[in-house]
Amino acid sequence: MSAAAIPFDYVIVGAGAAGCVMANRLSADPGTRVLLLEAGGRDRHPFIHMPKGIAKVMADPAFIWPFMTQAEPASNDVAESWARGRTLGGSSAVNGMVYVRGQAADFQALADIAGDEWGWDRIGAAYKAMEGHELGPARTRGGDGPLRISMPTIRTKLTEAVISAGQALGLERRDDVNDPADSQRIGYAPRTIWKGKRQSAAVAFLAPVRARPNLTVLTGVAVDRILFDKHRAVGVAARKDGVAVTFKALSEVILAAGALSTPALLQRSGVGPAGLLRQHGIAVRHDSAEVGANLREHRGMVMQWRVKDHLSQNRDFQGLRLLANTARYYLTHDGPMANAAYEIGAWFKSRPDLDRPDGQILIAPFTFDYARPTFRMERQGGMNFCVYRLRPESTGSVRIGSADPGQLPAIMPNYSALESDRRAMGDITRFARRLAAQAPLAGLIEAETRPGPDYQSDAELALAHRRYGYGSYHACGTCRMGRDPASVVDPELRVRGVDGLRVVDSSVFPFMLSGNTNGPAMAVAWRAADLILNGPAASSNGATP
Ligand SMILES: Cc1cc2nc3c(=O)[nH]c(=O)nc-3n(C[C@H](O)[C@H](O)[C@H](O)COP(=O)(O)OP(=O)(O)OC[C@H]3O[C@@H](n4cnc5c(N)ncnc54)[C@H](O)[C@@H]3O)c2cc1C
Repeated sequence: MSAAAIPFDYVIVGAGAAGCVMANRLSADPGTRVLLLEAGGRDRHPFIHMPKGIAKVMADPAFIWPFMTQAEPASNDVAESWARGRTLGGSSAVNGMVYVRGQAADFQALADIAGDEWGWDRIGAAYKAMEGHELGPARTRGGDGPLRISMPTIRTKLTEAVISAGQALGLERRDDVNDPADSQRIGYAPRTIWKGKRQSAAVAFLAPVRARPNLTVLTGVAVDRILFDKHRAVGVAARKDGVAVTFKALSEVILAAGALSTPALLQRSGVGPAGLLRQHGIAVRHDSAEVGANLREHRGMVMQWRVKDHLSQNRDFQGLRLLANTARYYLTHDGPMANAAYEIGAWFKSRPDLDRPDGQILIAPFTFDYARPTFRMERQGGMNFCVYRLRPESTGSVRIGSADPGQLPAIMPNYSALESDRRAMGDITRFARRLAAQAPLAGLIEAETRPGPDYQSDAELALAHRRYGYGSYHACGTCRMGRDPASVVDPELRVRGVDGLRVVDSSVFPFMLSGNTNGPAMAVAWRAADLILNGPAASSNGATP
């Protein structure tokens, strides 16, 4: 019998970071029938699994949603690529693999907005249950969970000098930069890599349970809209290989299509701002003004420094050395091709009066050649810092441009709308320069090459951020959770105004988390599964917080 004819208890839309976690948890009960639908194909390409294959995968339209933003003055009037993963694992199959959990204080702030179910106690227990960390178990760190996490193997004169420079500025050196103390810190950044292979959510959470007879995973199925019986979600309408198909959900439809697709899917289904829906001829099922609003994104900037060739990995990623390193990877699953996008992370206060870090720097011993149209490393040695404000407050939007599911939504980042964000970007850039100016790192640096010494004053730094900034692939917030009636989903992540429908992906954060978002997206889905399976006050897998 085809999957379209079988009613499932749960239909999950999107097999990304959140969707794979959800499919794993809900199908643990053999009596529950779960359908996971993914628009992209299988994650078979070897460059998905080789960590440094990321550049090739991101350039391959087969694995990518080619989202573009609307040009705006804050991005120097240039439309930006906000590509997202489109395969099993979603963006976790194409991301930089840096594993950051957010600050404990973020989740306390979430508890203030959405209740104790989202406080650090609960999320810490979810992380502990999820993680299989190389550093072993600790109070809120897991040692034998399905998500394998390892530490960078690189330890060079340059990377050690970066860490010492951070210590000179008062950052604590941490073996695990994710411990929940929220202090200023620096250290080698954990990665979702195990034995040299990317640990996407599909690898961690889906592959081990694919044989469950009650779990059906369909790829190449793009969901167009949610089907309703009056106000109850009862299934989805989709296209498989261009052919229309529907799937029935007896219990719930669960949206995990990501912060750019989930709001568009809701809007196409009649849940969203009434004016927008009517403009595109869509019947309004529930007027929810904030569907697609409250978009948050880190506006990062890559700063670069020239260092001596032998201190940098630039030569490892070009010419014959690239070929040799790729061969080495396939023989040993080791070497430069087995590394994440960044090796070191620093979290710091850009101003001393702050109560917790507001800036992040990710650091890697290579530099990009921005003068070339295609992705290349520089020929000379270099080191780059990706810097951003951790919790930007400016909000943008995601809005459909038509009822046609084949048309990607309009994304307006609205970066830097607020003075607080503009000021912080300058402060954070200056902090990064102070880090580079500390011994022993300063002695290894020849010059800052990007943005470079011409950018010093507040106005010049603002210009640098307009010219060289970019969306750091962490969009969230477009279906925010809350107790207030204007929020899109309630604290149990149920879509307000309808029944049988939840959102469990990175859309639901009401604000930006303090760091990269893959870990938090998976932890939220893990918590959401607790809530679906056991209702509020359920702990994660019985783990004590
Ligand atoms: C290039 C890049 C680098 C990143 N680097 C890092 C990093 O180093 N560390 C980190 O922590 N985070 C990183 N992130 C962010 C992180 O990967 C995301 O925050 C996380 O994957 C979001 O999870 P999600 O479940 O909300 O969405 P996704 O993981 O994007 O999953 C959404 C899934 O839904 C599918 N889908 C969408 N629409 C439909 C539809 N209509 N029908 C069916 N399926 C649909 C998509 O194809 C996708 O598989 C990066 C992201 C990118 C893109």
